[in-house]
Amino acid sequence: MANINKVAIVGGTHGNEYSGIYLLRQWQKHAESVNRPSFDTTLLMANPHAYENNTRYVDSDLNRQFLLHLLQDEGLNNTEQRLAKQINQQLGPRGQASTDLIIDLHNTTSNMGPSLILLQSDEFNLRMAGYLKMQMPEAVIVMEVDVPLEKQPYLCAIAQQGVIVEIGPQPQSVLRHDVLDWMQTMTMHLLDYVELYNTHSLPDLPDVIEAFTYTETLKLPEDEHGERLGMVHRNVQDRDFQPVQPGEPIIALFDGGEICWHGDYEAYPHFINEAAYYDNNLAMSMAKKISLPIP
Ligand SMILES: [Zn+2]
Repeated sequence: MANINKVAIVGGTHGNEYSGIYLLRQWQKHAESVNRPSFDTTLLMANPHAYENNTRYVDSDLNRQFLLHLLQDEGLNNTEQRLAKQINQQLGPRGQASTDLIIDLHNTTSNMGPSLILLQSDEFNLRMAGYLKMQMPEAVIVMEVDVPLEKQPYLCAIAQQGVIVEIGPQPQSVLRHDVLDWMQTMTMHLLDYVELYNTHSLPDLPDVIEAFTYTETLKLPEDEHGERLGMVHRNVQDRDFQPVQPGEPIIALFDGGEICWHGDYEAYPHFINEAAYYDNNLAMSMAKKISLPIP
């Protein structure tokens, strides 16, 4: 792959995820912390309207608006649909983007720790994961590679390379010191990685790292009127990336019953009880733990 010449760090894609928003303000005052000799860094506050309203979004989730057919549809013009088109002009356009790498900063209310979500498993991404695990062993690598990049609706997918920094647990519209520090540390390692990659100066990387690969998303049970019938079971609450065996309870029903994990594999739930997913009635995402070879 060619060198990375332009990097964009994006915060506030969701207006109530505060770590990225506050880090951007610091970096705007101290540009030297995000600049590296071999590439240019742009900082972008993605959804200031949502931030002003102290909410995730105004009309619809900005981070689901970046599929090519949505960006090209002039009939779509609510707040986030307009923003998506603007951002696509600024950092993209998708398919021939002027930005080589987008690092999109997010918080989760789930207890996911410092997670890095990769959307591709090419050499650039795998080496990034290997480098990050070496520098920051507590980092969690999540592979969301079940669909190709061009079918990912995320903001960071408009560039050739895009990753999501996803750090929690942090309530919406709150700052936590530990979470902010993790985000700052991870972002600095990612920038350092790009610099080392560009200058062919990467250190020896581990042969294999632990990672999690996304498999499916589970919904909360509803009755025929769409009324919720249960909640996330205490057996899994706050236990993101801890194994769940087939037959173990994952949902507690309000009538006293429970729903057990009925997959045929040892699952590693994450985004467990994420507050932002209640509007879609999602309970958690599932992953498998893998040993990821680093090229
Ligand atoms: Zn987010």
